[in-house]
Amino acid sequence: MKRATLALALILLLLASCIEPEQAAEDRPAPYKQSLLPAFQRDIASLGEIPRYHIAVSLDADALTLNGRQQVSYTNEEGSKLGEIYFRLYPNLPQFGGQMEVQRAAIDGRDTPFSYEAGNTALKLPLTPSLLPDESLQIELDFTVQIPHAADDESHLFGLSQGILSLPNFYPLLAVHEAAGWHLDVAPEFSDAVFSEVALYEVRITAPLDMVVITSGLALEAQPNPDSTQTVYCAGGPMRDFSLIMSREFQLASTTAYGTTVNSYYLPSDKSGGQAVLQHAAAALRAYSDAFGPYPFAEFDVVEAPLGKKGMEYPGLILIGTDLYRTRAEGREFLVVHEVGHQWWYSMVGSDAVNHPWLDEGLTEYSTYFYYLMIHSRAAADELVERRWLIPYQVAVNKGLDAITDQPSAAFSEENYEYIVYAKGALFFHALHQTVGDQIYQDIMRNYLQQYRYGIATPADFLRLAETVSGQELDPIYREWVLTAR
Ligand SMILES: [Zn+2]
Repeated sequence: MKRATLALALILLLLASCIEPEQAAEDRPAPYKQSLLPAFQRDIASLGEIPRYHIAVSLDADALTLNGRQQVSYTNEEGSKLGEIYFRLYPNLPQFGGQMEVQRAAIDGRDTPFSYEAGNTALKLPLTPSLLPDESLQIELDFTVQIPHAADDESHLFGLSQGILSLPNFYPLLAVHEAAGWHLDVAPEFSDAVFSEVALYEVRITAPLDMVVITSGLALEAQPNPDSTQTVYCAGGPMRDFSLIMSREFQLASTTAYGTTVNSYYLPSDKSGGQAVLQHAAAALRAYSDAFGPYPFAEFDVVEAPLGKKGMEYPGLILIGTDLYRTRAEGREFLVVHEVGHQWWYSMVGSDAVNHPWLDEGLTEYSTYFYYLMIHSRAAADELVERRWLIPYQVAVNKGLDAITDQPSAAFSEENYEYIVYAKGALFFHALHQTVGDQIYQDIMRNYLQQYRYGIATPADFLRLAETVSGQELDPIYREWVLTAR
């Protein structure tokens, strides 16, 4: 049976089994549409055939394992035939410390062989015959994840620590395919590892009944099961990842920002920090919506996590380290505002965080300038330039740590990564801002968002767009801040 025919048969079967159809009546939108504010629900139709994930995972909280099954509907929109397809198994990265295994893979209902690559962080599924342009197939994967248990005083991106189960990237995530092939890069431990394209998600999570389950997107339903577990049904998209974090301890404070519900989840002893984080996040969502263009999703979650003094961004969800609720409150506002900025630069406008990490980190850093300008004062914003970017960059130069900004994260060391990718990267955007002025700078950002929303931009794309919008030759500042080292 041809794949397209089989896909059609599967869709009919799904319809027959009462799973909500995509072309639902106006009053019953598809589940992931509900994760978008009404004005943005039409965005999905404009994106063509993006992948759709149906994931069911079950947590064994005692054994610290996840058992999952996912189905991905995938259409080849690459313009050339594909002889294989890759998923990334990010929990197998050393900085995640988990162990993810795939037990079974099937394509269009038929079991298929698979192999691991890139240090077990990539799963290869050969396609025979090749998948032609515009053809579709359905991939089913059964997988397990062994969740690491970290000491409470350690910073931990993935696993159990301080009663919090952080499970970002807990499922096999489609790798990004471009003309040169599949992206299977392995990022060093000090940098961000994940590069992905937007997709639509329906996710069912089964976990103990007393667990507070937080995800990207929106929880649509929670059903108790007879065995003291619950199944939480969530949906979201278009999102480039779907994150999961849970704890029995979490408490919740909520507010709204331009129609978006903003939730802050925190440990009971960190209530005042949880309230402060909520206000900073809501203020940042409003400021960035005004400055760059609206946040399209119905919900945004800020979650306390065992990340020390660090934070981490995921679509519709950011994690803020426990230290910032306690002993390091002075750094809290900046860090929350930085992570919220990633909803624009990383989440909505995607970029390759492994090969061009400065593009989202430098821009997210510098975007905080506009938050401080709008919420505090020009003086407070100018102080950031001095204190966060100019002085640290000068320190790096003095220590002989300067480097070309536009390089893969593997070209940096732990010593100079933040100096160059964050501080010097931000200084390029500062130089651009000074060259073109407030109004044109914001026009550039608004155009960048509009043109690349839900897509992927490269540094060259950004430079071309900035030159077109400003009508100025920007090569000299780009060369100075992005392409050369002192
Ligand atoms: Zn960042």
